[in-house]
Amino acid sequence: MEARGLSRRAIAPLGLGGARVLVYHDVGEHGDGDPRYAVTRTQLAGHLDQIRRGGHPVVPLARVWSGPGGQAAPAVALTFDDGRASDYLHAYPLLLEHGVMGEFFVNPGNIGRAGYLSWPEAREMLRAGMRFQSHAHDHVYLTLLSAASLERQVLDSKRRIEDELGCAVQFLAPPYGDLNRRVRQAALAAGYQAVCNSWDWPARAGRTTVTRVAVYARTTPEELARLLRGDPLPYLRRVVRSAVLYPAKRAVLSLRPGWLTDRFITGAA
Ligand SMILES: [Zn+2]
Repeated sequence: MEARGLSRRAIAPLGLGGARVLVYHDVGEHGDGDPRYAVTRTQLAGHLDQIRRGGHPVVPLARVWSGPGGQAAPAVALTFDDGRASDYLHAYPLLLEHGVMGEFFVNPGNIGRAGYLSWPEAREMLRAGMRFQSHAHDHVYLTLLSAASLERQVLDSKRRIEDELGCAVQFLAPPYGDLNRRVRQAALAAGYQAVCNSWDWPARAGRTTVTRVAVYARTTPEELARLLRGDPLPYLRRVVRSAVLYPAKRAVLSLRPGWLTDRFITGAA
């Protein structure tokens, strides 16, 4: 019995600290994107219930970055990539219903196109408490670009969103999670506070990289509960998978960009 007690005490402090920054893509039954990344409305509603039941405050990324502190349960940030129409049709009403805010990473180059958000929809969401950040101007691999093109992608997207919506854009999430030091430096030079990557781990305050945890169609309520709790095992499983796949994918990207299909880099698009 003593051994069991000891092991429990030993395990308890291993729960990971830091905010859980979740990243979603499509929400809805009939999304246009990759079905592996599309969660249903029922799934998202279940996740929002789980977060509430766990007592996790839902905070904006700016609070994650500045260090929310003080809560009994670790903070959660809800982020949505790609700016698809489903953000407005499905995610936004569910977030409103649950009284929480979401942070939407959009490509200004896609806004207004069929299947994507429009600027008026984004303005309505902003007025209701949602936030908007940059997913680059276009949905392209940033590490492949020349310095001038890279600067345009990070700077023009920031300015365009700020001009259209009148909000501060402080975070960049590179498309496909395609991030290196050059992209991070370009983003910081353009005035972003931090860059989001797709390395599944809780996020620490004040870092120039915000780690996010991808939510997939296959993510079960049990796995999400463990991720929210900070159980290291599901995090380690994801990190090991990325550590194996990421260098291989980067090598393919640098040698044969033409081989790449969407969402190839890290699994998170
Ligand atoms: Zn994307």
